[in-house]
Amino acid sequence: MATVEVRHLQKHFDGGRVRAIDGVDLATGEGEYLVLLGPSGCGKTTLLRTIAGLEEPTDGDVLIGGHVVTGLPPRARRIAMVFQSYALYPHKTVLANIVFPLRAARVPAAERDERARKAAGMLGIGHLLDRKPRQLSGGERQRVALARALVHEPAVFLLDEPLSNLDAKLRASARDELKRFQQDVGVTTVYVTHDQSEAMGLGDRIAVMSAGRVRQLGAPVEVYDDPADTFVATFIGSPPMNLVPRGEVLIGFRPEHLLPQEIVSGDRVTVGLDVQRVEYLSGDRHVYGTVRLGDEPTRVIARLPATVETPIAVGERHDFAISTGRLRFFDGQSGERTEPVRVAV
Ligand code: ADP
Ligand code: MG
Repeated sequence: MATVEVRHLQKHFDGGRVRAIDGVDLATGEGEYLVLLGPSGCGKTTLLRTIAGLEEPTDGDVLIGGHVVTGLPPRARRIAMVFQSYALYPHKTVLANIVFPLRAARVPAAERDERARKAAGMLGIGHLLDRKPRQLSGGERQRVALARALVHEPAVFLLDEPLSNLDAKLRASARDELKRFQQDVGVTTVYVTHDQSEAMGLGDRIAVMSAGRVRQLGAPVEVYDDPADTFVATFIGSPPMNLVPRGEVLIGFRPEHLLPQEIVSGDRVTVGLDVQRVEYLSGDRHVYGTVRLGDEPTRVIARLPATVETPIAVGERHDFAISTGRLRFFDGQSGERTEPVRVAV
């Protein structure tokens, strides 16, 4: 096993016009599952390819297992990478697909087979070795690609949106499998996704990226509860965190913390919500409306669990409240987290 680290990493394209990676520092723990999360174009794939050695950094270093590998070719890095489009050879059997990289590396035939069968067994596809890719489901094909990566006995797994070709239902079960698999194997993994629920479900820690930089690196609960800035606050969470401008600051609170005032006890801020729309989504009630908490009326969303049965009608003003401890504050200019300010009730 090994850790992955990048130091002051920069990767520019087109003579510096595109800064795909614009100064990234991060380090995984031993056996950690680190997720790179961010919108399309923020530099996730470039960062992963630079770790793999498929791109040379403009500046900075990549370390694997504590050793600087910048400048070393991919095969010298003990990494295995699975891309979004994991091309399998259509005319080869599953077994032949899995052993292929070992043939290329001139591993003896008997050992090749043994390693391939072991990898296939770990992924629960041991019974499919004689089939061709077209005789497999999407999830099974994805596991073949993972097995093919696993036969290298890599020190590090690099996965770039490996589930994005699967349909929603399959994606959920493949996600569970991936997590269990990683726990069994214990290989340090860097996993790229733009899907926040995938990131929250899989990651030991999440690096939230935007425009070539890491905005925040933390456990799922940290980036959710204590976002470092308004980008993280609104990129994570569905619906996103509410932000109400007031003077120099933005007052932030999650939709599930804006609740009918009669069920919020302790220190709280109460606010009238002019209800404009109510939606039912997987058991929760999403209430859209306007509050007067800041400089001017602001649109917000409240998310009420099914256990809250308070009648709420469109067109009425309903008293809502937020526990004071749930309020977050951000600088109105920079968007960075700031010290709490007093919000009069
Ligand atoms: P993500 O994987 O987060 O969607 P990418 O790492 O693919 O983002 O891309 C980051 C940025 O770098 C984008 O603006 C993209 O257009 C640019 N980029 C990536 N690869 C190249 C390349 N080979 N040449 C020029 N620009 C590139
Ligand atoms: Mg990408």
